[in-house]
Amino acid sequence: MDMSVENQFLNRRILIVEDERRMARFIRLNLEHDGFQVVEAITGQQAIQQLRDTFPDLILLDVMLPDLDGFNVLQTVREISDVPVIMLTAKGEEEDRVRGLELGADDYVTKPFSPRELVSRVRAVLRRAEAIKPGSRTLIEVDEHLKIDFDRRRVWVDGELISLRPTEYRLLYHLVQNAGLVLTHDQILIKVWGYEYRDEPHYVRLYVNYLRKKIEKDPANPKYILTERSIGYRFIDYQRERLT
Ligand code: CA
Repeated sequence: MDMSVENQFLNRRILIVEDERRMARFIRLNLEHDGFQVVEAITGQQAIQQLRDTFPDLILLDVMLPDLDGFNVLQTVREISDVPVIMLTAKGEEEDRVRGLELGADDYVTKPFSPRELVSRVRAVLRRAEAIKPGSRTLIEVDEHLKIDFDRRRVWVDGELISLRPTEYRLLYHLVQNAGLVLTHDQILIKVWGYEYRDEPHYVRLYVNYLRKKIEKDPANPKYILTERSIGYRFIDYQRERLT
């Protein structure tokens, strides 16, 4: 990370819930290096106590804890707070990721992760949590090829106005509003099609393909709408890409 880029989230307080001391220390050092404040909990009970006592801006929550598991903690957190939560999940545990997202986690990071990956996820989630309301930012310049004006419902690819069907437009809207974060197939279905369509994941695949054909230079190797295998899709974190 270029150190000349200032941390717009300086002194935001991050609660790390992790019983493995070395992992907790690794995360703490990297977040502190980037100007975040860190508080820790090593059990689920402590996590809830810390949430009540220290009002963190974001929680990094490990799935494997000695008392309650991370999902129980997440459910309790959601009963009392809408603080952003990023789950720390083990490699290969796609079900854990989907379950966490559906219980209200904002994103996940898979162990082992790089400091850069961790910090960029934390920033993406904070950015969304603190974002100015959609609509107040008129022109979104994803990069030099793709520009979107959600107020006027216009999308340009290489300077050419393109036409999107309403469903494609809604899909693009939700992906871009959550840029940098994963959305599960179910979350996309519910947001774009409505709750009654949640058992029709092929709609998502189909419309992602339509959209890729319209906005991607090479739809077979997409760089805007990225596939998260067996989970869902993630729109590129264009705000971060531009900074680095
Ligand atoms: Ca653990």
